[in-house]
Amino acid sequence: MKAYGVNELRKMFLDFFESKGHLKMDSFSLVPQNDKSLLLINSGMAPLKPYFTGQEIPPRKRVTTCQKCIRTGDIENVGKTARHGTFFEMLGNFSFGDYFKTEAIHWSWEFLTEVVGIDPDRLYPSVYEEDDEAFEIWNKEIGIAPERIFRFGKADNFWEHGAGPCGPCSEIYYDRGEKYGCHEPGCTVGCECDRYIEIWNNVFTQFENDGNGHYTELVQKNIDTGMGLERLATVTQDVDSIFDVDTIKALRDKVCEVAGVTYKNDPKVDISIRLITDHIRSVTFMISDGIIPSNEGRGYVLRRLLRRAARHGRLLGIKDRFLATLSTTVIAESKDGYPELEEKKDYILKLLTIEEDNFNKTIDQGLKLLSELEEVLVKEGKSTLAGEDAFKLYDTYGFPLDLTREILEEKGFVIDEEGFTKAMNVQRETARSARAVTNYMGADETVYLQLDPSLISAFVGYEKDETDSAVIALTTETEVVSELVAGQKGTIFTKETPFYATSGGQAADTGLIRTASAEFEVEDTIKLQGGKIGHVGVVTKGMIKTNETVHLAINEEKRGGTRKNHSATHLLQKALRTVLGSHVEQAGSFVNEDRLRFDFTHFSAMSKEEIHKVEEIVNEQIQNGLLVNTDIMSIEEAKKTGAMALFGEKYGDSVRVVTMGDFSKELCGGTHVANTGSIMVFKIVSETGVAAGVRRIEALTGKGVFHYYEQLEAELNQAAKTAKTEPAQLSAKVESLQEEIKALQSENEKLKSRLAKDALGDVMNQVTEIKGVKLLAARADGVDVNNLRNLGDQLRDKLGEGVVILASAADDKVNLIAMVTDSAMKEGAHAGNLIKELASLVGGGGGGRPNIAQAGGKNPAGIDALLEAAPKALEKQLK
Ligand SMILES: [Zn+2]
Ligand SMILES: [Zn+2]
Repeated sequence: MKAYGVNELRKMFLDFFESKGHLKMDSFSLVPQNDKSLLLINSGMAPLKPYFTGQEIPPRKRVTTCQKCIRTGDIENVGKTARHGTFFEMLGNFSFGDYFKTEAIHWSWEFLTEVVGIDPDRLYPSVYEEDDEAFEIWNKEIGIAPERIFRFGKADNFWEHGAGPCGPCSEIYYDRGEKYGCHEPGCTVGCECDRYIEIWNNVFTQFENDGNGHYTELVQKNIDTGMGLERLATVTQDVDSIFDVDTIKALRDKVCEVAGVTYKNDPKVDISIRLITDHIRSVTFMISDGIIPSNEGRGYVLRRLLRRAARHGRLLGIKDRFLATLSTTVIAESKDGYPELEEKKDYILKLLTIEEDNFNKTIDQGLKLLSELEEVLVKEGKSTLAGEDAFKLYDTYGFPLDLTREILEEKGFVIDEEGFTKAMNVQRETARSARAVTNYMGADETVYLQLDPSLISAFVGYEKDETDSAVIALTTETEVVSELVAGQKGTIFTKETPFYATSGGQAADTGLIRTASAEFEVEDTIKLQGGKIGHVGVVTKGMIKTNETVHLAINEEKRGGTRKNHSATHLLQKALRTVLGSHVEQAGSFVNEDRLRFDFTHFSAMSKEEIHKVEEIVNEQIQNGLLVNTDIMSIEEAKKTGAMALFGEKYGDSVRVVTMGDFSKELCGGTHVANTGSIMVFKIVSETGVAAGVRRIEALTGKGVFHYYEQLEAELNQAAKTAKTEPAQLSAKVESLQEEIKALQSENEKLKSRLAKDALGDVMNQVTEIKGVKLLAARADGVDVNNLRNLGDQLRDKLGEGVVILASAADDKVNLIAMVTDSAMKEGAHAGNLIKELASLVGGGGGGRPNIAQAGGKNPAGIDALLEAAPKALEKQLK
């Protein structure tokens, strides 16, 4: 057997199944499409679910993929062992009602023994204990001796998830040899040790479980197989773990090089090396699929992985940022199978650097707070960190919970996780109540799962605003029905429709569906799996029945506004790339009839000049009256023409390319103006940051711009009216008002200081002499610190030589000041020491230089005692 590399094995597998009539498909994005049950794709089968359930028709009945996958269920163990990881690639061949057990078993055997060249004597199949059919195929057709075929029970060899399709499995184990064995008697296939590892799993989906353990044979039987690519490579390369296979070892070596450490030298160091090696792979692939670090959902998974890796870098003693450097190695090692990594390289590295910098800024403060909290725990003899404290670390310092947990665990502490969740929920509730939530649909989405999957609606809204078509299905909010009557809410499906369903960031159409006697108000239009378009709304008149012909008409004015805004986002994207650079990628967008919102990747706030330049370019292209054309072509052709594609988006075989003159070319399924001239005018109203490395522009077009200026004008007029002037003179008026305020303020200060003097009364007759040094100790209530100082200056000048002590009661507090002239200092007087001694009498403290000192106190009642004590305090100082 040759020591095939990861990249070779991937290609060998896909080529082999292609030769067996399979359609070779690229890996799907890590972001599940139309599947809310998953945060991230975690198996080769996950993105193909609609083909298995029959919700969508597969492009071919035989498909093969190498799917990038992320699993975070075992994240706590990643690094601690060499078995766990979050990122892996899954090889798979799939049959949707086509071939079954015989072919699946034969091909898996052929691939392993003939293509890869694994010694058949080291392979052991297993079957489900009741699956005699599979046993026979292995025994009679492949020729494996019965004692080498293992029968396992439901827990190991039956795939099932509650009710629904399920079936037995047949796995193939590989014997890695005695050196990996536990040497216990009875060590054989199925043993927990590292000797026999499962490399291939064939799932034969042949039954339907009704939920009560009753199984019926499925009409359409499916094959779903999976083989971990990295695990297969450990076999061909005969190495200990996935961290030793060629591509991952290259990365592991890079981690060691950056940190200046060696692998397999210190078990503690190895944990960090493996953790970083694994996490940086996940992180790189997630970013390439358009996931952005955030505090929610998959964005949070990304942030957690990234920050754990950053912290373990510190544990290894890495001082500078290092994630981007490592990511470069990930890209170099994996770009063969995933060209998108190379395409998005600049962006991936920039985003990583920004997020790492952000974390580095707060990590030291966070770690300091955490060690203080630990000290308190030790002092109080506790071992559990309060949930609120863990939440504060999360909220303020960006410490993911498992990071805090991991740090504490190393020292034997735990977290009150329930308390953490509570604190988190309180914050979420607050955030939620601050947002108004609207959900048009109201309906339980599962009602749509009851629809016949073969029903398809055609969208004709690119050409038409209204059309006649037949009703193919109706639902209420809870069930499929054959008629809807006045007052009922529901969803109408028709054969053809001009209504655009929310997608690609474009808001849904609203409008009316009518017959001669009935009317249905469409409040929302939705796209369902399998190419169905649903009109959600309410019957306002009469009754609508399936199979009858209805007239569908969209709200044209609304669509008209939406068209302008959508076309403007295309011009905007091109203008942004022109002004800011080619790192600008669309990160999200939303257009409706009122406005447009465009999120894009960029790493600093835009300057006024940049915003202005972008507006200028877009308006120029509007004036140029560019013709807008749409062409349908294959994705390869589209890429060749240089059309901009959306980040991390999975496109079908044929795509729609929207061209605006020579200026813009984008893949887009939305609706557009025929000529950019009809956009009329474009205006950016805000530019803000929404996440690290993502900016958001909100802008208006057409009538929206006029409304915007009308509003500004109204506000300007109102402001002018309030300032009792005309709009044209408003600036001058505001300037003169500010001058006036300044003058009044200085007048006010003068009056305050005069009041301070008055509060003191005629104090010069309170001057006493202590050992020949003049002392003035007096109170002046209601005077703030600054004025007390001014007052002190004046009194000291009046006094000529000597010591001035002033105390003032203001707002339940005491201000104190002491001043000593040069000659008094020579006699031994010291302002700082005087204040230090006297301030305690008013419940305060303070000090200062020999010539001037001040202090505050909390107890005005002590002022008299203070003034009485002053002569004695001075006397002690004098020679
Ligand atoms: Zn064993
Ligand atoms: Zn578009």
